Amino acid sequence: VTDHSAGLAAIALEAGGSDGLSRSSGLPDSLFVHDGQITKRPMRALALSVLAPKPGERLWDIGAGSGSISVEWALCGGVATAIEARGDRAANIRSNAAAFGLAHRITVIEGTAPGILSGIETPQAVFVGGGLDAAMFDGVWSRMQAGTRIVAHAVTLETEALLSDLQQRCGGELMRVEIAQAGSLGRYRSWEAARPVVQWSAVK
Ligand code: SAH
Repeated sequence: VTDHSAGLAAIALEAGGSDGLSRSSGLPDSLFVHDGQITKRPMRALALSVLAPKPGERLWDIGAGSGSISVEWALCGGVATAIEARGDRAANIRSNAAAFGLAHRITVIEGTAPGILSGIETPQAVFVGGGLDAAMFDGVWSRMQAGTRIVAHAVTLETEALLSDLQQRCGGELMRVEIAQAGSLGRYRSWEAARPVVQWSAVK
């Protein structure tokens, strides 16, 4: 057993308080080791809101990147299986899980979905953060039991078209999120728009 309490204390401090970590999802991106591929704070909060974690539930975090979704799911008392194709990112997920003291709640699987999903314990919720196409969807959906929740984010037109089609076939909700943050423009401030993200959420 490794003691990660020092890492966790540092994270709590950086998160803005000495009294511990915020109970709300949507922690600052800076609390996670990442290479730029991370579901940013506002979209992460919106993902966790529809994923709706309950203590003891299992999440499949497919294309887990930094593992930020898995970490926030596990902070709510669940367990996560983080599936990530790239070795360097799988390493980031492991170090983030450890820094948050959640290594016992997050299983990191390095490999490519959907093939890698065979034989792993089925979840109550699935988040697809990367690599989604029709074949991957069919593989994931066929392994989900009835009642399982799924949430997928799309940034490209191609994935957006797939999500539009999936809502028609499977129901659920489709939401487009456009976020802009104020930044400086010379002596003034101006809105800096992020790429729109489309979120599809459904229950099988
Ligand atoms: N939600 C993540 C960011 C995901 S970025 C976070 O908050 O950090 C998308 C990730 O999906 C990338 O790391 C990419 O390597 C991974 N990926 C793409 N296709 C995949 C597949 N078929 N199986 C597993 N991982 C995949």
